[in-house]
Order: sequence, then structure tokens, then C-alpha cells
Amino acid sequence: MEGTKPHAALLASPGMGHLIPVLELGKRLITHHGFQVTVFVVATEVSPAQSLLLQQATTPHLPNLVSLPVVNDSILVDPEASVLEQLLSMVRGSLPRLRSAISAMKVPPTVLIVDMFGLEAFKIANEFEMLKYVYITSNAWFLAFTAYLPVLDKLVETKCSDLQEPTRIPGCKPLWVEHVFEPVLDIKNEMYHAYMRMAVEITMADGVLVNTWENLEHPTLAAMRDDKLLGQIVKAPVYPVGPLTRPIEPTDSENGVLDWLGMQPSESVIYVSFGSGGTLSAKQTTELAWGLELSRQNFVWVIRPPMDDDAAAALFTSADGRDGIAEYLPDGFLERTKKVGCVVPMWAPQAQILGHPSVGGFITHCGWNSTLESMVNGVPMIAWPLYAEQKMNAVMLTEELGVAIRPNVFPTKGVVGREEIATMVRRLMEDSEGNAIRAKVKELKYSAEKALSKGGSSYTSLSHVVMDCQMMSRSSQQPLDNRTSTNPPSPSLKGMHLTTVR
Ligand code: UDP
Repeated sequence: MEGTKPHAALLASPGMGHLIPVLELGKRLITHHGFQVTVFVVATEVSPAQSLLLQQATTPHLPNLVSLPVVNDSILVDPEASVLEQLLSMVRGSLPRLRSAISAMKVPPTVLIVDMFGLEAFKIANEFEMLKYVYITSNAWFLAFTAYLPVLDKLVETKCSDLQEPTRIPGCKPLWVEHVFEPVLDIKNEMYHAYMRMAVEITMADGVLVNTWENLEHPTLAAMRDDKLLGQIVKAPVYPVGPLTRPIEPTDSENGVLDWLGMQPSESVIYVSFGSGGTLSAKQTTELAWGLELSRQNFVWVIRPPMDDDAAAALFTSADGRDGIAEYLPDGFLERTKKVGCVVPMWAPQAQILGHPSVGGFITHCGWNSTLESMVNGVPMIAWPLYAEQKMNAVMLTEELGVAIRPNVFPTKGVVGREEIATMVRRLMEDSEGNAIRAKVKELKYSAEKALSKGGSSYTSLSHVVMDCQMMSRSSQQPLDNRTSTNPPSPSLKGMHLTTVR
């Protein structure tokens, strides 16, 4: 039977924020849509958190998980390079291994699905006559913005950031320049050119999957389907398939934070975390500590050593540096808050925490996975964006969906003071304002469940992808020796769990 199933190859670029949604897509293709799936993971210096995630993702969920080491380490990581440069460089360095792994398969996969930073792999899909899809692990608004960049490029002569008026992208709320990740708007910045290239490469896709759902972003998705609006730019069909988030896996072993949560009253705890990579300055860490203490609410805080000039310093090393927390917290903080607070160094089981009945609020950096995890658990948020597209996400959560509150000035612009933090936490956790926000996010939770259930919009959307792949595999599933390669099947891809391609 294996041979008759469509086979999808998924490529996850480095970083937990990409790996997690790609793994979830892979699992869903297997469990709900009868696919055979191979997930290729661009291997970087793997953190303990990532190793654990990969271990948990293997049997029975994802039997074929292949680690792709990066060829020629020297091309990557100039520590001074931007996160985006590092990412693209690592993916580029893994492509020779991806090519050899695919050519070693007797029958190539039907489709290659890459995340946004893996678009360069499309050339490999072309070589093997595979369908090529991009999976946007963020939302439709961000996809619309990226696709629209070439239009913006024609409108401005020097810097998009000089734009005085908000940009009106069809189907989207007006976008103010101050809410966009600055380097993307500066023609002199390499990030601008990288995003422009991605915008063009997206148009080459046979399909675009987005980790959102129809009800959440209907106007934007409708504009993408309209040939007179964004449809003339995006071109390929867009499939909202989300929200694909990590399920709450039961933990057998003792877990300090979950055990602690088990002793707290329902919806009494605010959870504070800045994603897989977020870091705060020393001053902001101090203010946050005081703010939590002054709020007099129960809290769980995933804490990292402060970093003064890099808000994404932990992105590729999510679980190092556990020691010495007390050194960067106000004197006596841990002692004074020990009855109300649980401080977790570096990394916590976030899916379980957000799904815990004791959690009633989330201070989040608004990474899209964290945002979705909060929504699917009905947890209202305080939006604290740090990098990438997070300011846009924060604007969506506060101004459009009404499921979050935010500081007066975003933390990217300055330090948020302790009084403001304490007030925000109390507003969310104690006030009637917080209750109204909680009610709204619970509506989103039910809407998300509906979208994913059989016959729901996201389920149906992924079924359309499946139909495309089935048509393709019927018309072209034949051994590679009739197509591109005469190599035998790769032993590394059959019946193995986490394999490394050499
Ligand atoms: N995460 C986690 N524990 C942590 C921090 C993060 O499990 O202590 C997970 C979180 O649940 C989410 C992912 O890491 O699935 C972070 O992705 P997101 O898009 O929110 O942010 P990014 O890290 O990409 O900025």
C-alpha cells in the first residue's frame, strides 16, 4: 500500500518556530490524509529542546525524519550576520544533501513542501519533476505583505520606511510602517533584497499553504483568491490549513512547572515567554521582574540571560545557559515571589502550560506559533513583540481580533516600565476588560476547532492539496530510473527513525 500513497517531502529550515509547524503538518498529512511523509530537517547545532522534539516526533507519528547536515560549514555562520542571512545560508548549505537524498529514492516524492526560508529548494523539486508548495508558518496578512513587496518597491524611490501613509494591501487592514520589521523596508539592507527574492519565488509555487484558518483571516484570503486583487500577485492557490499546533502530550515524568501549575487555582496564572529565541535587555528584565511582583498575580516566567542589543539572541540555541538566574534578577526577587511565581530557565513545555486549566493569561512575543497555541487554548494575551513579523501579529491581536492588550509603546521602541507591566497584568487577569478578552479568545478557540474538524475549512483545504498530489502521483509515479536517477532506494530513508544524510 505504501507505494500507492502520495509521498510528501517536507523541508524545515532551522529554528523551532519553523520546525514545530512543519512537523505538525507532516503528522496531519499522515494521520488525516493517508500520505507517506519524509521530513528533512536542516541540521544546526541542535539544542536539547530540539533533540527532544525530534525524538517525540518520530514513531509512531513521523516514521521518516531525516537530518540534513549543512555542507561546508564555512559558508554559514558568521556570528555577525543577521538571523535571516544565517538561516538562508544554512538552508543553501543543506541542498546538496537534499538532492542526493531524493535522487537515492526509487520513486521521488510527489511534492516538496518547504517553509518560507527553504524556497531555494524549489530548484530541486523542478529537477525531479515534483510539485512544489510553500508552507507559510505565519499568517495570511504576512504572506500578503511579502507578496506585495515588489509592488511597494515600485512605489518608493529610496526607503519604504519613508512612507507617510499606511500601505493599503488589498484585503488587509492598513499597515503602518512602524509595525513592519524595519530592515525589510530598507532598500540598502540585505534583508530587503532577500524578502524581495522570496516574494518572487512564492509566485513560482504550485500552491501556498498558510498556518491560519478561513474565519480568522477571511478578507485577506478572499483577496488572494481574487484575480483582480492579490490573486494577480500570489498566482498559486492559497490553502489555509491551520491552526496546526503542537498537541498537549501527556508527560509521564515529574515536571516542576506542571506540578506547580497543578496546585494553582483555575485561570489564575500568567505565563510569560518570548518564544524559542527571544531575549530582553538587562534593564527590561529588571522591570519585568518588578512588574510581575507588583501585579500580585501568580506567574510562570521562562527566563533567559539578558542580552542588550539582540532581541533574538537565543534563536538557534534555545536551551543553553541555565545557571545564575539570580544574578540578573532584582535582589531577593526569587525569595519574595517563591509562593506566587515559578521561574523556568531557558525552555518550558509551552504547549502543556498553555493547555493547563490554571493558566489565564500569556505575555507573549507574538511569534505565530505561540499566538496560535494561545488561541487554541482560549488564553488571552499581552502582546510584547520583539522581532520578525511580531509587531504585525501584535497589531492583529489587539486592534483586529481584540484578544490581547499591549503596552503603550511597543518594547521594540523602549523599555516597558514596571508600573505599566503590573497594570497590564492586572487588567488582563482581574478586570472585566480581561474577562471580555477571554470570552473573545474562547470564540476563536471554537472557531479553530471547527476549521480543523472533518469537513471544516482547513480540513477541506488540505484535502484539496491531497487531491492535487494524488493526481500528480497517478500521472507521474514511476521509478526515478525512467526520470532522473538510477540509484537504489536509500537505506537511510526506509524504516529508520531519525536519520542523518551524509
Ligand atoms: N516554545 C516552547 N518552550 C519555550 C519557548 C518556546 O515549547 O520555552 C515553543 C512554542 O511553544 C512555539 C515555538 O517554540 O511552538 C516558538 O515559535 P514562535 O513562532 O512562537 O516563535 P519563534 O521562536 O519562532 O520566534
